[in-house]
Amino acid sequence: MGNEASRIELLSLAEEVGESLSYLRELGVEFLESADATETVAAVTGEFDSRIAKTIATRPDEPRFAALKRNAEAEARVPKTPPPREETTPPDILSQTASTEIAEMPKRKPVRKPDAAPPPPQETLFGEITPKDELSLPREGETFEDIRNDIGECMRCPLCCEGRTKIVHSEGNAKARLMFVGEAPGADEDVSGRPFVGRAGQLLNKIIEAIGMKRDDIFIGNVNRCRPANNRTPTTAEAATCKPFLLREIAILRPDVIVVLGNTAMKNLLDTKEGITKLRGTFMDYKGIKVMPTFHPAYLLRDPSKKREAWEDMKKVREYLNQTKADK
Ligand code: URA
Repeated sequence: MGNEASRIELLSLAEEVGESLSYLRELGVEFLESADATETVAAVTGEFDSRIAKTIATRPDEPRFAALKRNAEAEARVPKTPPPREETTPPDILSQTASTEIAEMPKRKPVRKPDAAPPPPQETLFGEITPKDELSLPREGETFEDIRNDIGECMRCPLCCEGRTKIVHSEGNAKARLMFVGEAPGADEDVSGRPFVGRAGQLLNKIIEAIGMKRDDIFIGNVNRCRPANNRTPTTAEAATCKPFLLREIAILRPDVIVVLGNTAMKNLLDTKEGITKLRGTFMDYKGIKVMPTFHPAYLLRDPSKKREAWEDMKKVREYLNQTKADK
């Protein structure tokens, strides 16, 4: 097999590994824990996974596989975690009151120890080590930079290996009162490493200016930070893996309003099954923060007749921001 063909096959196998390893973990099998891991994998998940395990075992020089091995070995060394806490029912975001939510998300003064070394970048395809709800919690005194360091050269979900060029982090004014949340980067964002810089982003800039603000005034990010191949919709699992980082940023920023752009971002941020057509234009609530769902600018480019409704939504945002005294 030529080098390129072999590289492509290895990358596509790595993608599959993300799936099969989580399956193995569900079964309680420690991957690569012992020398006969290949047989264990084969016994549990059959021929295809056996092929993957063999490929990994025999290609220690393949950087992505080397990372997988390191992670697997590091995981095997981690003492067994206590059984996960009983899942509490997620709060109904539609019925929470502002006062209880503010209590849940106290204002924190970001204090960073001057000499503290950033945590090493994590590379893992094994999903969460800590329970999901803990991942979403703000860490005492953390900064946006801490979150980026935490993300590292992320390999937590299959989007790492679908052709991502750059991880697209949230960016913007660290004191913004208004935040925008999209679904996932597109081709232009993937190349530049910045959110909303393509055609949809340019329309969004015009929308921001139409309510009397500038792009520099706002903070902007996506639920998923890596571009899905062919702009497919990220899966629920992929969104759940990446979302905690966004939630931690929201906890630091504490904007007055979050505008969620489009169906996927709205469903993922608000954990709702309702569609954007039904919920757009009505303020929702996320931990005491007003959330305005509206159409995604890419959708507005495809169907400009929807711009009128999006404009109605944005006027409500402008009105709310004007009414609310800036406290930052
Ligand atoms: N669409 C999104 O949802 N996010 C981007 O960053 C760009 C396009």
